[in-house]
Amino acid sequence: MSPHVLILGGTTEARELAAALTAHPGVRVTTSLAGRVTRPGALAGEVRVGGFGGPTGLADWLRDQHVDALVDATHPFAEKITANAALAAARTGVPALVLRRPGWHPGPGDRWYPVASLPEAAELLPRFGPRVLLTTGRLGLSAFAHLADRHFVVRAVEPPEPPMPPHTEVLVARGPFTVADERVLLRENLIDVLVTKDSGGAATAAKLTAARELGLPVVVVRRPPLPAGVTAVTDAAGVLGRLGLGPA
Ligand code: NAP
Repeated sequence: MSPHVLILGGTTEARELAAALTAHPGVRVTTSLAGRVTRPGALAGEVRVGGFGGPTGLADWLRDQHVDALVDATHPFAEKITANAALAAARTGVPALVLRRPGWHPGPGDRWYPVASLPEAAELLPRFGPRVLLTTGRLGLSAFAHLADRHFVVRAVEPPEPPMPPHTEVLVARGPFTVADERVLLRENLIDVLVTKDSGGAATAAKLTAARELGLPVVVVRRPPLPAGVTAVTDAAGVLGRLGLGPA
């Protein structure tokens, strides 16, 4: 029977991996999406949508669907599903890998303020000017909701929901963005400080270059650690190698 690979998706890397794996004849590929985004776009292979019901539900799914390998290619900040995947793999004995794009690192001229969480980012904001560009996703705005004396420009793929700060302007946009785009955004909105998660990847890195060029401070929320004992690779080629598959 064809080996069945389950990809936990929701990222560009997961999409690329699904394409790379389906190019191998005889490999069955299913991508799982949480169902948060209304129009996720086409994906190669099979797709299932919605939560599994915790680690137990995921372990049942792995057994019922005869999954031979699990690849957690979720976003670096999707902490819960990553923990669930590690538990379900350990319980079922299904070999598992984590696909994580490398994080960002500051270079010369960067004014970065690393923090451990969104509430810690909020605590830091009063030391900067009042106009804040938030690119930390539409969830989690509640961490900033008490900051009534700041003006927030929130850029997100889909409109955020309350609670959010009283002075919030929403820009619905999906990357990739160019450095020129980001420079205009920062300048036109008179931004004093940028807040971002260390998502990594090229598609949304241009804002960091634009902030450096304009001398703006950037509050960077560090990634949560991976669960103990998981094997991580940084790209689709790394997954193919671990699965014993070359480029198709
Ligand atoms: P999360 O907090 O780690 O997960 C919350 C719950 O959502 C999980 O317990 C699981 O429900 C379900 N879930 C998450 N990802 C799933 C998947 N790929 N397939 C099936 N169920 C999934 O996740 P999140 O931060 O809300 O992110 C949700 C999705 O959006 C992820 O797939 C992630 O890759 C993508 N995403 C997240 C971010 C971010 O900043 N967090 C950014 C871009 C994209 P059950 O326990 O019921 O299984």
